Amino acid sequence: MSDLIAGIDLGTTNSEIAAFAGGQVRVLGPGDTRMLPSCVGFSPAGELLVGEAARNQQALYPERTVRSIKRKMGSEEKVRVGSKDFLPQEISALILRELAEWAHRALGERPQRAVITVPAYFSDPQRNATREAGALAGLEVVRILNEPTAASLAYGYGDGSPHTVLIYDLGGGTFDVSVVTVEGDITEVLASHGNNHLGGDDFDDLLTERLAAEFEKQHGVDVRQGHPAAKARLWWAAEEAKKKLSFEPYVKVREEALLTRLFRPLHLEVEISRDEYEGMIRPLVESTLDSVSKALQDSGKKPGDMDAILLVGGSTRTPLVSSLLIENIGLEPRQDVHPDLAVALGAGVMASRLAGRAVERVLVDVSPYSFGVSYLGDRGGYPYPHCYKPIIRRNTPLPLTRTEQYMTSHPYQTEVDVHVYQGDDEDALKNILVGDFRVEGLTAMEDANEILCRMRLDLDGILEVAAVEKRTGKSKQIRIANALRAKSAEEIAAGREQIQELYETRGEMVGDAWETAEDLEEEVVDGGAQVVEMPAPVRADGDAEIESLLERSHWLLAKMHAEDREEAIDLHEKIDTAAASGDVAALKEASGALKELLFFVEGQN
Ligand code: AMP
Repeated sequence: MSDLIAGIDLGTTNSEIAAFAGGQVRVLGPGDTRMLPSCVGFSPAGELLVGEAARNQQALYPERTVRSIKRKMGSEEKVRVGSKDFLPQEISALILRELAEWAHRALGERPQRAVITVPAYFSDPQRNATREAGALAGLEVVRILNEPTAASLAYGYGDGSPHTVLIYDLGGGTFDVSVVTVEGDITEVLASHGNNHLGGDDFDDLLTERLAAEFEKQHGVDVRQGHPAAKARLWWAAEEAKKKLSFEPYVKVREEALLTRLFRPLHLEVEISRDEYEGMIRPLVESTLDSVSKALQDSGKKPGDMDAILLVGGSTRTPLVSSLLIENIGLEPRQDVHPDLAVALGAGVMASRLAGRAVERVLVDVSPYSFGVSYLGDRGGYPYPHCYKPIIRRNTPLPLTRTEQYMTSHPYQTEVDVHVYQGDDEDALKNILVGDFRVEGLTAMEDANEILCRMRLDLDGILEVAAVEKRTGKSKQIRIANALRAKSAEEIAAGREQIQELYETRGEMVGDAWETAEDLEEEVVDGGAQVVEMPAPVRADGDAEIESLLERSHWLLAKMHAEDREEAIDLHEKIDTAAASGDVAALKEASGALKELLFFVEGQN
């Protein structure tokens, strides 16, 4: 028999399959996410749909689609999908079959044996139903593995020494927290708590409500009443917005022609800030902390006894989750293994070990350093221009993009000096200066002007830092090559000198600082600086669609590859010229080309 054993996370919202391939444990599957939505359905034509296609039709044809079947595992309750009735394990078997097919396509061999994970609280009938689902899918289930155990294996805590870890797992529809001791392959779940009906879906519901209320306010129509297709679009838009808000301080939701009235399309356009969103979800996230306290209490452990907090589940990308955990437990949670793949990877580690391979942990590409910018803040009651907070935190998987918001510190301030540092110290001057640039030509205004600082770090160690003036979209950017390389003694010495110069401004109010809150383009490649300025977005007066296209484009400029950016700027100029001269055909052509380019760029990001 082949020695291939697959590790499977059969999840409530998504499922994944991992196996040993190319010298390491990998999650296998098509696309970037390699996640199969745990959804099964029949199309109107009666075709069986598993995964993305079933999920896409769920809002429109709920009676022909089933999701979250995991909640029913172990019960005899049949679910009706279209005109057929299924046991929960039969639906799960369809999901497992699809995953086995993914592995087959990736490895050229279909797995016959598998390790499947289940929540620590699963009862015997639930575990047996999971085994049966495997058997129905043609898989011998060699081990049923507790999810927290899988997560601790993925994070490398199965190295042989004893560890006590807290595993916080917030997925799409369920929340679990477990206190676990691990020693080699022996793992004991000391205590486990959670809420079977709490997860990212609830965050989507709250945002959908907010979007529907906004649409009703703008147009007087309630999409919640009798408009299933529009409501489904809002739900999608809400989930997308939610995901962006994990990395951006604001999100703009635009749904064109959500409904039509008297042949007129009704659009939804609204901006939501992370602050507002966090206000909405805070009570839900806080309720998870009660479970954390209970699990600690039941395990007889104190927060100080924990070697680590491990984050598992897609919803743990929500920054409020980490910040509340730090506040309450005083330990920074680890999220260096992709939170939604950690369980599958851990199952893959166990499966590989059972197949006789010495696998210690999974390999992931993470940023070994934190990066951020300095700002004018308060230290010891005095204004201090070199305050620092990381924007990119070390041990975060790559590639990544993060944005933070800063404000100009003086009325009519039109320039900001941006100093980019590598390090974690609250005093920027104790970190390593890796680049700086000046943003000029900001709008002179009496009130504080909002500037967004966006950092993007890729697997090749290229760090791009962009500052964007939010109100105009004007931006400036630097690109730092080799950001992940350890600095040489000379570089550190040179950086120290620069720091010394900056140090001399200690305590002074500097005119070009910003406070915690970017549109010009500068490239610094290994020290050489090249400046390219981006124009502020053009206003093609009267054409809302083109205006919104231009604005979207401005938001994306910083993320584009150099050639795309050049093309986008060229198209901006063409649109501007065509709008100014009233040349409708040229306007149409240039905006059509820009739309296509953005479609392409958005697909890449
Ligand atoms: P899981 O069950 O672990 O696959 O988690 C799925 C949940 O994670 C869904 O509710 C997703 O919307 C959510 N999710 C995925 N990515 C993000 C993100 N970047 N920020 C917040 N939630 C996310």
